[in-house]
Amino acid sequence: MSKILRVNMNELTCKFEDVPEKYKLFGGRALTSSIICDEVSPNCHSLGPNNKIIFATGVVSGTNAPTSGRISIGGKSPLTGTIKETNAGGIASQKLGKLQIRAIIVEGKPKEKGKFYLLKINKDEAKLLSAEGLVGKGMYEVDNFLGQRYGNVAIIGIGPAGEMMLTNAGISINDMENRPGRYAGRGGMGAVMGSKGLKAIILDDEGAPGVEIVNKELFDSGRKKLTNALSTHDITKKGGALNTYGTAVLINIMNEAGGLPTRNFSSGQFDGASKISGESIAETCKERGGEGTMGHGCHPGCIIKCSNIYPKEDGTHHVSCLEYESDWAFGANCEIDNLDHIAELIRICNDVGLDTIEAGCTIAVAMEGGLVEFGDGEGAIKLLNEVGKGTPLGRIIGNGTEFTAKALGVSRVPTVKGQSIPAYEPRVVKGIGIIYATSTMGADHTSGYTIAPEILGVGGKQDPFAIEKAQLARAFLNTTAFIDSTGYCLFIAFAILDIAEGFEGVIETMNGVIGVDLSGDDWVNIGKEIIDKERAFNIEAGFTSAHDRLPEFMNIEELPPHNVTFGVSEEILDSVFKE
Ligand code: SF4
Repeated sequence: MSKILRVNMNELTCKFEDVPEKYKLFGGRALTSSIICDEVSPNCHSLGPNNKIIFATGVVSGTNAPTSGRISIGGKSPLTGTIKETNAGGIASQKLGKLQIRAIIVEGKPKEKGKFYLLKINKDEAKLLSAEGLVGKGMYEVDNFLGQRYGNVAIIGIGPAGEMMLTNAGISINDMENRPGRYAGRGGMGAVMGSKGLKAIILDDEGAPGVEIVNKELFDSGRKKLTNALSTHDITKKGGALNTYGTAVLINIMNEAGGLPTRNFSSGQFDGASKISGESIAETCKERGGEGTMGHGCHPGCIIKCSNIYPKEDGTHHVSCLEYESDWAFGANCEIDNLDHIAELIRICNDVGLDTIEAGCTIAVAMEGGLVEFGDGEGAIKLLNEVGKGTPLGRIIGNGTEFTAKALGVSRVPTVKGQSIPAYEPRVVKGIGIIYATSTMGADHTSGYTIAPEILGVGGKQDPFAIEKAQLARAFLNTTAFIDSTGYCLFIAFAILDIAEGFEGVIETMNGVIGVDLSGDDWVNIGKEIIDKERAFNIEAGFTSAHDRLPEFMNIEELPPHNVTFGVSEEILDSVFKE
C-alpha cells in the first residue's frame, strides 16, 4: 500500500503516513499542488520554515508502462512567488514508485544554519545522514561519490546554486549512466531544497515491493495501446524525428517560421541556426561518439528516447543532454553558434545546479547589459562559472533574468511572473504566448504545448488566430496538468493527440493502477481542478489578472523578419479562466 513520507528538518525525523482518501487519484503534479494548497500558506516566504517541498511520483511510474518516469517537485517558488510544479525524467520516479512511496513531504528547517543532510531511503527505512564532505560540491562529483558508495541508486540533489539558495537553482535527477543530466529546473526549487538543508535524496529500490496494480488486465491492455501509438507515430516512433535528431530538431523548424527567439528576443531568426540544429548535433554525435550517442533514453522503459550524449572532440563524454530549449537558450538567444561552447554551458548548469532556460536568458540579458558580447561563447562560459564560485557577480547571474536585468539596467526582460520565456517566440506563436501569460507557473512552454498544433500540425493544424480562442488555451492547460500527474513524459502528447488508441491507453493504465473506471473527461477534469487550486493559491499570494501578461516590449517592438507584435488583447487573456 502506497505511503507518504514526511520528513521534518527541524526535528530531523522521518515518518510514514497513509495516503489520505482525498488524494487517492492523485500522483505527480496533482499531488504536489494539492499538498501545497492544503499545507502551505500562500503568503509564506519561499525560503522560510513554512514553505514545504514535495517530491511525488506519477501514478504509473515504476510500472512497465512506456515512457513513464517523470517525477514532480512542488512548493512555493522563490523565483515567481507562485505555486510551482517542475518535473523531470531520470531514474528517481520509478524507484519511488517501486518503493510504494507516493510522495515525500519535506518541511521545516534545520536548527543549525549551514548544515546539510542526505535523506537515504530503502525498502525498510528512511533516515537522515550528514552530508559532510559533499557540501559545496557539484552534481557530477556528488552523483559519482554516492553511486560508488550505494550502487544503483537514484539521486535527487542540488549543486552549490541550491546551497546558496539562488532563485535559479534547479534540482538534479541522475540518469541511467548516473550523471546529472535531468533537471527539475524551473522556478528555483533547488533553492527551496537548499533552504531545508537537504543536499540529496538517495533512493535504493533493491528488494522493493513494486507498484501495486489493482486491475492488471486493464493496465496491460492500456500499456499495449499506448506502446502501439508511440511506436507508430512519426514524431515518437523509433527512427522518428525525436529519436533521430532529439528535441533540437525544432531549431530549424522554428527558425524557418521566424519564431526562434534570437539575441535576447530581438529577432525571430538566427543566422547560425543550422550550426546548432538537431541535424548538426546528430551528425557531430555520430562522428565523435558513434552509435548510442543519439536516441538515448533518460530512464528505463522510455521508448521515444529523445535524449543524447554529446561527446567532446576526442569522443569522451561532454554533456547529456543537448536538447532544444537548452541549445536555444545558450545558442540563438545568446547568438552563440558553437555547439561545444553550448555543451559546456549546459554542463556547467548540470554541475552547479541551474535551470538552462533561465540561465541562457540571463546570459543574454547580461550580454545586452554589456558584460559580454553577443556571440562570445568563451565569455559566456567565464561569466556562468562565476555562479559556482559564489562571487557577487555570480550570485546576481544565479538569481536569474529579472534580477540580472535590474542590476544592469536592461529593459528588454523576457519574463512572465519573474520566470524566463522559453524557446518559442510568442509574437509569432500566439497560442503559446497565451499559455505563457496565463500559466499558474510563470512563462512555461510545458504548461500547454500549443506548438504541437500551431507549428507541427499535430492533432489538426491550428492557425495562430484560431488558437487565440481562450477556451483552447484553457483546454491545453487542463490536459497538461492531467498528464503532469500521470508520470508519463509530456512527449507522449504527440501520439495521443493524433491516435485515439494512445489516449485510451493512458486512461486504461491510470484506471488499472488505481482500480477505478473513470473516463478520459473525468481525468482531464482532475487537471482542471488542479489548475483551479493553483490559481486560488496564487490569488491569495497576491497575483491578479494584471500579472497574466507578457512583457511590455512584446506589444510595442515589432519582431523581424515578420515584423509582428504579440497583439492578443487583454480581454482574450482574461477570458482564459472565465467559465
Ligand atoms: S521522451 Fe525524452 S524526455 Fe521524455 S522520457 Fe524519453 S528520453 Fe526522457
